[in-house]
Amino acid sequence: MTASTDDLETLLERASTGVAFDGLRVAETDGEYALETPANEWTGLDEADCRRALESIEEYVTNWRYWQETVGGEGTARRAFLRWCERAPLADTADGDTTTGPWSDHGDGSEPLAVPERYRALRDGIDREWGQLSITARFVDVDDPDGERVYDLWHVDDADSDIADLEVYDDPRDARELATYDEDGRYRPLKTAPTLPGGWAFTGLSGADLVETVEFFYPATVANWHRELRGNLDIDHWLETAERQTGIYDVIDELPREAVEWMAEACCVDSQCLRRREWQYEEGDDLDADGGDGPFPCREPCSLVIAAARKWAILESEEERTYELELTTSELNQLEDLIDAVAEGRTDEIREADVNDGANRYRARYLRSKRFDDEGNLEATQVDD
Ligand code: SF4
Repeated sequence: MTASTDDLETLLERASTGVAFDGLRVAETDGEYALETPANEWTGLDEADCRRALESIEEYVTNWRYWQETVGGEGTARRAFLRWCERAPLADTADGDTTTGPWSDHGDGSEPLAVPERYRALRDGIDREWGQLSITARFVDVDDPDGERVYDLWHVDDADSDIADLEVYDDPRDARELATYDEDGRYRPLKTAPTLPGGWAFTGLSGADLVETVEFFYPATVANWHRELRGNLDIDHWLETAERQTGIYDVIDELPREAVEWMAEACCVDSQCLRRREWQYEEGDDLDADGGDGPFPCREPCSLVIAAARKWAILESEEERTYELELTTSELNQLEDLIDAVAEGRTDEIREADVNDGANRYRARYLRSKRFDDEGNLEATQVDD
């Protein structure tokens, strides 16, 4: 462990105005120093004694230097996110108490770590997950850490991969390109859909570069997470969002409430989007659909949902009709299998030989040959007028 002479001098200089950070307290009055950590306390020290005492608690000194000098930005989303990455108390509690404070529960149920535990963990690397991103915070120099941290980032599915098997990047802007297409080369219109491809790694990033990279993968997630932690995430619920739409989206406020429920279930659950939906039908009228469990919130219906809602608003304006069509029980079950397979995106996984699956391609083609007329329509008769 290495606290530099500069660190000690800077800390001693600051002592006259008082230092209180992450459990370390240093104060100086009329040339007499007082020093405190959760485990130790020194009083009546002269400068030389204080310097020696500080050398004996170097991890507190280098921790102070990293957060106060290297990272800075008190109160910013960037700083809070980097502290979350290493499970530091998010509230920067001056006395190092990890159990109190407005954000002490860490937002995801994990316990914050005090400085000695954190330093032990940072030697091996502290792993966190942010959507499909796996983030590791670690010391630059594991053998002789001076408190400086760096961050590694890769896809959660690659967490156990050999780094030699991954494409390594260091420019945050590369993340934008990596997030554009899924592994089948299809455009990803929703950046928080769980379709991020793997095979890449960012290593040795600075804190600022880590946050920038994460924001290229998942735009605005860090900022909204931070707003939520501070209790000032402004949420735009469905009805107010729908009512302020104009032009071709003007119709979406006509979507019945139960259709909004179906829409949230179709688009916003964790299997479709990793944002945690916080918007509801309207203030005081919550939707039953699962909002998800992810760390970052969704504060308003996104453009993808708005565009889909327009389609559903038009479809829902149609009157329901009664049709008669002939199907065997197995064919009815097969229709359910087909809808389910498409909805869950598993049609590509169904093997051609697996004719037991109702969504098997040959089964679907057979049903079409049997039940469609020459114009390609299901043979059904409307029985109401
Ligand atoms: S509205 Fe739904 S799909 Fe869109 S970002 Fe929010 S949670 Fe995701």
